[in-house]
Amino acid sequence: MGKQEDFVLRALEERDVRFVRLWFTDVLGSLKSVAIAPAELEGAFAEGIGFDGSAIEGFARVHEADMLAMPDPSTFQILPWRGETPATARMFCDILLPDGTPSYADPRHVLKRALQKAAEAGFTFYTHPEIEFFLFKGKPDKGDRPVPVDDSGYFDHTAQGGGQDFRREVITMLENMGISVEFSHHEGGPGQQEIDLRYADALSTADNIMTFRTVVREVALSQGKWASFMPKPFTEHPGSGMHTHVSLFEGDENAFYEAGAEYQLSQTGRAFIAGVLHHTPEITAVTNQWVNSYKRLAGGGEAPNYVCWGHNNRSALIRVPMYKPHKGNSARVENRAIDAACNPYLAFALVLAAGLKGIEEKYELPPEAEDDVWSLTENERKAMGIAPLPRNLDEAIRTMETSELVAETLGEHVFDFFLRNKRAEWQDYRSQVTQFEIDRLMPMV
Ligand code: GLN
Ligand code: MG
Ligand code: MG
Ligand code: MG
Repeated sequence: MGKQEDFVLRALEERDVRFVRLWFTDVLGSLKSVAIAPAELEGAFAEGIGFDGSAIEGFARVHEADMLAMPDPSTFQILPWRGETPATARMFCDILLPDGTPSYADPRHVLKRALQKAAEAGFTFYTHPEIEFFLFKGKPDKGDRPVPVDDSGYFDHTAQGGGQDFRREVITMLENMGISVEFSHHEGGPGQQEIDLRYADALSTADNIMTFRTVVREVALSQGKWASFMPKPFTEHPGSGMHTHVSLFEGDENAFYEAGAEYQLSQTGRAFIAGVLHHTPEITAVTNQWVNSYKRLAGGGEAPNYVCWGHNNRSALIRVPMYKPHKGNSARVENRAIDAACNPYLAFALVLAAGLKGIEEKYELPPEAEDDVWSLTENERKAMGIAPLPRNLDEAIRTMETSELVAETLGEHVFDFFLRNKRAEWQDYRSQVTQFEIDRLMPMV
């Protein structure tokens, strides 16, 4: 038994922990949890906890259903919303096959494999997500329009509605669980919130995002409210994104930084952006995985719908933020496409793989988009080589299908499952008759 496992076993006694929840994430990004008694944990550290993988979305074919959840002791935390004594704790798990090898279906493993590849090239990958979501008065009944907690907008300081108290409680809980928060504020839509997590290595941030979504939902429920990370709940209001700032480090050095270069952005940084831009259409089905994600990306609401980059340009998909000398190692690039309803492990793995490809193959960075790309005409954009993002899930799937980079990064099993699942989602969606059609067409024909 290693040191970290010992620490966890001791903490169980000291904190009077009665339940240990083992967490992992399915392929579509839903959190799964199984609670075990503390007495079982030593065995779990040694051999894992068996479960039926075929019952988890995307995990296994029925004839090879047995899987093991192996808790990662470095992720041990007490769950603040379950009360102090007796306490409930959680650990994220790695998923193993019965022979002890990592499961091909485990999203956490997909990210670890991508990070390993980066490590072989000498890089550590850091991410810093800005997570947006809507806060509603309560869970809407089926067919009802959700009611936001307030009517405020961007950065509003709102007395009513309880958004501030809500954010404060969420942030306190996250900090209690060792997750640092940098900023929080009201976002542009009514009831819309944003909370930004401090940057950390991508595996920690992906775990933290899973925890974050859970904390947000728990706090909302405890206050009689309802939170949703749905990318575009309202036609007339902006959607919820998860802008993610990314950087590569070589040891202690930020590999995106070069003193004196344009925007202090190194050649490595430029090639990384070039890689991400080049492969963005292929990875969009994962970074924006729902039919609804494409309503957010349809233009407007400060969400990107063209593949380009810019310095401080908020209409661009990749923004190179102003370099802040007092912030030392803060050179980074912001990916504004990703939404908050993605599977963060898979999304980060693909953004990293795309960027690394750009570095490996020395992709040339196209000129930056200096203008507001929404105000250009179609022809102007064409002349500048600015391509549109996939316009819907169907287009995104069709682009992903042909991608070697995505197949290689996700692995064959996740790649196939994901495509199958998303084709089915599109098929269900495309046969739906919507209110829009009825309102438009019925009076006319
Ligand atoms: N909500 C916008 C989006 O969907 C972003 C708005 C902002 O952060 N300025 O990406
Ligand atoms: Mg922000
Ligand atoms: Mg925002
Ligand atoms: Mg941002």
